Amino acid sequence: MKKNILIAGGAGYIGSHMCKYLAEKGFRPVVLDNLAYGHRQAVKWGELIEGDVSDSRLLDRLFSEYRFSAVMYFAAFINVGESVTDPAKYYQNNVGAAIHLLESMQRHGAGNLIFSSSCAVYGEPQEIPLTEKHPYHPINPYGRSKLMVEQILSDFDAAYGMKYTSLRYFNAAGADPDGELGEDHNPETHLIPLIFQTVLEKREILSVFGDDYPTKDGTCIRDYIHINDLARAHLLALERLLKGGDSAAYNLGNGAGYSVKEVIDMAEKVSAKTVPYEIKPRRAGDPPVLIGSAEKAVRELGWKPEFPDLESIMKTAWDWHRTHPEGYR
Ligand code: UDP
Repeated sequence: MKKNILIAGGAGYIGSHMCKYLAEKGFRPVVLDNLAYGHRQAVKWGELIEGDVSDSRLLDRLFSEYRFSAVMYFAAFINVGESVTDPAKYYQNNVGAAIHLLESMQRHGAGNLIFSSSCAVYGEPQEIPLTEKHPYHPINPYGRSKLMVEQILSDFDAAYGMKYTSLRYFNAAGADPDGELGEDHNPETHLIPLIFQTVLEKREILSVFGDDYPTKDGTCIRDYIHINDLARAHLLALERLLKGGDSAAYNLGNGAGYSVKEVIDMAEKVSAKTVPYEIKPRRAGDPPVLIGSAEKAVRELGWKPEFPDLESIMKTAWDWHRTHPEGYR
């Protein structure tokens, strides 16, 4: 019998790719999403239950009915800037709602949670690449909300033996190589979709936030990781927990950094079009360089990225945007 996996936030960018991946590997994803930001059209591999992660009655019903082997938690707000102007919204959802889910898991004796964390838990890097041992000094409510949940998970494990894996993503990017899923946020704040929307003339011009950083070309450097490589890491983490593995946290990045200008150049290469851009002031809270070491995931999970270079990541992104200029709409 197929194992049921609850995918909280499975209609979103990473969650939807995860569902496809799990279904291909013989699991049965069950999506819980309130569709506040997710897309109904992105839920193609498994049932969609429309509802809130904070709805304890609904969760109790789902845990009794489906007897989930594991839970993957993608249902968080992700806009760093908004987390600064509206922290209540972020703590309420990213922390408060998460606690409801955890309590429900505890009531039902469910375990094996895979939590979408972020390199934002580290804050300004003291050294590059960032390893899991780097101190935690998140610099915005978004990063703090992720760290708080990680700490709550650790307490739940100590008290109730609830096992979890925190996966700290660097910059998720790219799209399903089959072209069935892609990245579509509303509002869009991420660099790569914004670049391609500009290429497709959905936007007039791209803003580059700062060209006076202490980097080779003055623009920020980030570590972009393909969405399917993220999905595979989740699967490996899931298999490890199902075999009785202990709670752990892993960075997920390629260990290679690309500047905003390099990303623009690559977009021009893969699309064979020009990206009009203008330099704007720095965005608050953007460290100059974020590059992760995923050695622990390589060593302990046997993870290896299949899209280690920016070109292959951006080709899949371009294919999605080119064929879905309006996103899922
Ligand atoms: N960025 C930019 N213009 C934009 C959006 C992003 O120059 O319109 C830069 C941003 O400052 C950062 C990088 O692109 O250095 C990646 O930003 P994104 O929001 O995609 O991801 P983040 O690093 O914030 O998770």
